Amino acid sequence: MWTSFEEINGANTDVMKFIFKRKDAIAESVLYKYPTFEERTVMCISTQTGCPMGCSFCGTGKFFGRNLTVQEILGQVEFMVWKYGLDLNACKRVQIMFMSMGEPLLNPSMRQVIKLLHLRYPKAALLVSSSGPKTENWDDFMLLCQQVETVGLQFSVHESTDEARDKLIPMKAKMNLEEISNMGERFAITTGRQPFFNYCVHPGNATDADVERLTRLFNPLIWQATLSVICEKDETNADAVARHLDLVQNFSGRLVAQGFNTRVFNPAGQDDIGGGCGQLWQVQKFAAENPSIMRQSPGDRIRVRVQ
Ligand code: SF4
Repeated sequence: MWTSFEEINGANTDVMKFIFKRKDAIAESVLYKYPTFEERTVMCISTQTGCPMGCSFCGTGKFFGRNLTVQEILGQVEFMVWKYGLDLNACKRVQIMFMSMGEPLLNPSMRQVIKLLHLRYPKAALLVSSSGPKTENWDDFMLLCQQVETVGLQFSVHESTDEARDKLIPMKAKMNLEEISNMGERFAITTGRQPFFNYCVHPGNATDADVERLTRLFNPLIWQATLSVICEKDETNADAVARHLDLVQNFSGRLVAQGFNTRVFNPAGQDDIGGGCGQLWQVQKFAAENPSIMRQSPGDRIRVRVQ
């Protein structure tokens, strides 16, 4: 279990970041209130130390240590609950998102984590965000999604062609866009719930041709779109976020015209405490200080060390 905890607060008091450490692992979690915990509580939690997917925009994706254990993942939630005296079962809306650090589908402990969280917090939405690795864990995961009706699934798509996406997510053992589309449809058929694709909008992937390709790939009757304001790890000022927001809203309008439901994700706190995925500065520091624990992410093959 974790041996040290640190809380980092920024200018925005609605978002707090937590760093969990033990000798051979580190995790980051982010807690949001919108606008109060009672109204809506959101937690983003880590599932691995570092990540083997190697996404080029991600601060942690360059390093990978190991899968986190069930206790280490649940411990992040329980610590935030304890620290802020939260009663998650009394909140109007609770979302626990597996999207802070790590690829959840590569960690087999996730099955137990989801079952236990659902038992403790039956009303909480449990959102799994995946970059779509090729792994045999998908079959078990689909079964679990059928059994636990609060599990949601989101794919990090980010580009409308495989060529562009391969540059962003260099891991070779991952599904291509068509395979992601098929997996999302399988989720929809199995569970009756809509999957999401997440798209980090930038000037190079927001053309009408991108809208057309996305609509061809992802049936708007099945898929919803989450549009992220920013991904790059070096875009850390509020001006850049505001500039991107205009672009995202324009792109959102064009997807809506194609029949998509969209939502725009603008991670509060990203500009000063690193509240968004891929902004995990403390992990980079931990990796630099612990080269024997945090190896360079392969980016081209899966190499997961199970604790
Ligand atoms: S963005 Fe997510 S999947 Fe990609 S390397 Fe970072 S933590 Fe892993």
